[in-house]
Amino acid sequence: MRVAVIGTGYVGLVTGVVLAELGNQVICVDNDPRKIDMLKKGIPPIYEPGIEEMLKKTLEDGYFQVSDNIGTAVEASEIVFIAVGTPPGPDGTPDMTAVKAVAREIGKAINKYTVVVNKSTVPVGSGDVVGNILREQGVPDDKFDVVSNPEFLREGSAIFDTLNPDRIVIGAKRREAAVKLVELYAPLEKPMIMTDLNSAELIKYASNAFLATKISFINAMSRVCEASGANVADVAKGMGLDKRIGDQFLQSGLGWGGSCFPKDVEGLVKSSELLGYDFQMLKAVQEINETQTLHFVDRIEKRIGGLKGKTVGLLGLAFKPNTDDIRDAKSLVIIEEVIKRGGKVQAYDPVAAENVKQVFPDILYCEGPYEVADRADVLILVTEWNEFKSLDLERLACSMNEKILFDGRRLYGKARADKAGLEYHTIGS
Ligand code: NAD
Repeated sequence: MRVAVIGTGYVGLVTGVVLAELGNQVICVDNDPRKIDMLKKGIPPIYEPGIEEMLKKTLEDGYFQVSDNIGTAVEASEIVFIAVGTPPGPDGTPDMTAVKAVAREIGKAINKYTVVVNKSTVPVGSGDVVGNILREQGVPDDKFDVVSNPEFLREGSAIFDTLNPDRIVIGAKRREAAVKLVELYAPLEKPMIMTDLNSAELIKYASNAFLATKISFINAMSRVCEASGANVADVAKGMGLDKRIGDQFLQSGLGWGGSCFPKDVEGLVKSSELLGYDFQMLKAVQEINETQTLHFVDRIEKRIGGLKGKTVGLLGLAFKPNTDDIRDAKSLVIIEEVIKRGGKVQAYDPVAAENVKQVFPDILYCEGPYEVADRADVLILVTEWNEFKSLDLERLACSMNEKILFDGRRLYGKARADKAGLEYHTIGS
């Protein structure tokens, strides 16, 4: 099939490259000239395992093209994906500026029947908003359909997830339009759910809000465990073996961050409010998440007798391993708090340091994990990158000022830290 994807971020680029790999003729469009230049040379502007090889291969094979022109991409395609960002606006509702701008450009270019697919995460009712924009641009009703096809990929395993989705959600008013997407995704041989536009849009928000709720629940339990001397890992294990609960998203830690959970939970709270429902449960889920990180910093401050003049080493900056994404990363909250409370930060991340430099240019960026430990008064494990799993803790400890480790991801365990002579603190025990 001939497909255009507007927006070459984590979602758009991965979707475009995977669809090209499956033998479709794909044109990816972006309005960022830097990204277009890089992509034309086969260099992905984002870090994502496996993307570079697939990008180079599909470019060489002629299945994947890049452009800065929405009009020509739409004219050449039968299916057009909108995959631009929908960041939170000032009041927390998703900012639809980019989606609407792209919809206008698509509307100007449609010259034959085209299926316009919303892959961006958009509030319920946005399918109709896009449809109305196309009509305003003079596109007759028989020349387009709007479909909602929300994305569930996880950064860090985005290619695998796109090739192996648990389900594919397709929301449309007319069956013929949904069938177009069924045909496009048929080679993946995965379950597809066909529904109406509003339900498809809400499936995305409900899924992310539910997962965030699960994490906040176990993080709230971690506070009860700390106060009572219980162990949250054992509590989570005991809960997770119950098939009705399941063990995923039950790892207690610093809280959820990233580009999706915070904005999608807030987006659902706001959309519900506009629809007349006060989603109090989700507000509590948000509050638990915010206090979880601050409580951790409070514990560190208390243990080392104040942060003023102290050096804090951070292992990991990305919001999770295998990505350079730092949107709503817990590292940013910790850095801000440490600086506010008078401390200094030295940090290392295998790929995300450059992005954090844009936000905090003045902290010390180290070349590796052992440098982070050098003369630190406390070391914090923030992101559980694979390369941190096998660190030589004794080597870390020997150059530290105070041999104190705060493990924000429950990665090392007390026995291993004890053996290295490190005083060990973690979450929920
Ligand atoms: P992103 O910010 O990484 O990428 C968006 C891209 O769109 C950028 O390259 C930007 O330059 C481009 N863009 C913006 N306005 C444009 C315009 N007018 N014309 C052409 N290009 C334009 O965003 P992302 O992380 O890929 O997310 C995209 C959408 O998918 C969001 O709604 C997000 O909530 C959703 N989503 C993201 C993830 C994830 O893990 N990142 C997962 C599922 C769903």
